Amino acid sequence: MFPSSMAVRSKSMIRIVGAREHNLKNLSVNVPRGKFVVITGVSGSGKSTLAFDIIFSEGQRRFLDSMNAYARQFVEPLERPDIDRIEGLPPTVSIEQRNSQGGGKSTVGTVTEIHQFLRLLFARLGTPYCLDCDLPTSGQTPDAITRSLKRATRDRGALRLLAPVIRNRKGFHSDIATWAQQHGYLRLRADGQWYASDEPFRLSRYKEHDVEVEIGQITSSRQATAACQSVVEETLRVGKGLLLALDEQGNGTMHGTRQACQGCGYSMPPLDPKLFSYHSARGWCETCRGFGELFHIPDVDRGARADAIEESWFQWQEGKRERCPDCDGARLNPMARSVRLNLDGFPNSLTGPRGHDFKNHPPTIDTFSAMTVREALELFEATRLKGREKEIARDILPEIRERLFFLQEVGLDYLQLGRSVTTLSGGENQRIRLAAQLGSTLSGVLYVLDEPTIGLHARDNVHLLRTLKRLQQRGNSLIVVEHDEDTMREADHVIDLGPGAGIHGGRIIATGTLNQLCRNKASLTGQALRQKRTFPLSGCRRPVEGLELGADLRKGKKR
Ligand SMILES: [Zn+2]
Ligand SMILES: [Zn+2]
Repeated sequence: MFPSSMAVRSKSMIRIVGAREHNLKNLSVNVPRGKFVVITGVSGSGKSTLAFDIIFSEGQRRFLDSMNAYARQFVEPLERPDIDRIEGLPPTVSIEQRNSQGGGKSTVGTVTEIHQFLRLLFARLGTPYCLDCDLPTSGQTPDAITRSLKRATRDRGALRLLAPVIRNRKGFHSDIATWAQQHGYLRLRADGQWYASDEPFRLSRYKEHDVEVEIGQITSSRQATAACQSVVEETLRVGKGLLLALDEQGNGTMHGTRQACQGCGYSMPPLDPKLFSYHSARGWCETCRGFGELFHIPDVDRGARADAIEESWFQWQEGKRERCPDCDGARLNPMARSVRLNLDGFPNSLTGPRGHDFKNHPPTIDTFSAMTVREALELFEATRLKGREKEIARDILPEIRERLFFLQEVGLDYLQLGRSVTTLSGGENQRIRLAAQLGSTLSGVLYVLDEPTIGLHARDNVHLLRTLKRLQQRGNSLIVVEHDEDTMREADHVIDLGPGAGIHGGRIIATGTLNQLCRNKASLTGQALRQKRTFPLSGCRRPVEGLELGADLRKGKKR
């Protein structure tokens, strides 16, 4: 079956012997590794069977077999394809048109991992804004607070330093006066009213109260720094990181070492990438649990497999789902959506979606979800970080830029990052997965793709082929099922299956470079391509029509 001149070395070849799956006629073939290989032939000739049911599924099966016993118990064993043997098969990844895994929480951003890197960026450099006041929260060191308060006395006069101990909480709070008295603090303030700590103190039980304890004063900017620092630190200790500075007129400013609102003192928990995840209870909108849509799901205890159960119902309820009214499809809770990325390095002039001004209205994670790939790329290309921002974002920004660039490369720069993958076409789906692979550093992998050029304009086709080449240059192998002529011209190796469809197919007609195929009289593909060369079509790109025509003729003859 094999040409004797072709030396088979397991490292350089995938050797397939005796494949009989579906219509394959005990087929044997060598597929070069590390190359761009196209499997072509008429529809129904068995090219997808060879690529997916033999090569890919055997690659998957071996991968599962190599997993440890513990991991294996969670997956169904895969059936072995009908084949004598395959040798030299590397780890295999398929990038199919259909959306293979659950997509309820998958977006363009999550599939390409851009969202994951944005989450890191927001967690490290984001500023939470107070949900009530829409003011940025901030935290300072005790040292910085001391300096700014001393400076403030020049305008505001002497400042009393109060430790907020109760914020917005119902109750009598009598114990606070007792505590203050025992610790030598003479005065406290409840809801703006002053009390001596030794007088009876009992607030109304069912109202919400704010209570502060007066710790000390900063009288002027000439006061000794050490003394000021010590009273500031004491206030922060009692106030658990918060300090209220009150002037003679009763005007107060809130200061703190925690991330807290400068208006109302509301304190935010430290930021964490999980806060921006659709898959985490920390981040998701409680109404839709990160799906962005509401759908019927039986009210039962979903237990540990809640994710899988929800995902299934999400799919079953296709067409009956409604946009979530609470997050308006943004999938995240108000706290996550209140964090803004307030970077000095953002460009001054650039406007984002709907005229968004990044400098004056720092973007939230929602802003990025609403941005197209093109808009996000423009923003990040024009962003010039310095100092601390640069230090922190150094490893994150290139990852985001690169992935945006790959999406642009495969012609998807019009997609919004927050777009649900369930709304994408098969071709778009495949290409974002391709872009995601480009972002990974895997090498030595075999990628199997089905007809990636379907629905592409000529310009995007060029980009796609360049992308495939790049995957190959990283030391990967490519097997592409395709009858697009340009793709075949780019291939290192073409395998032509046929001659017909169904029971009339399933044989290797020709293999080799495109030139070898064109010289091969038996290869319908080669003949069709050769005719094209003699009568070149100007300008337009089209599939090799002779292939489909050939199939019809053959079917006709049989009847
Ligand atoms: Zn506030
Ligand atoms: Zn929601």
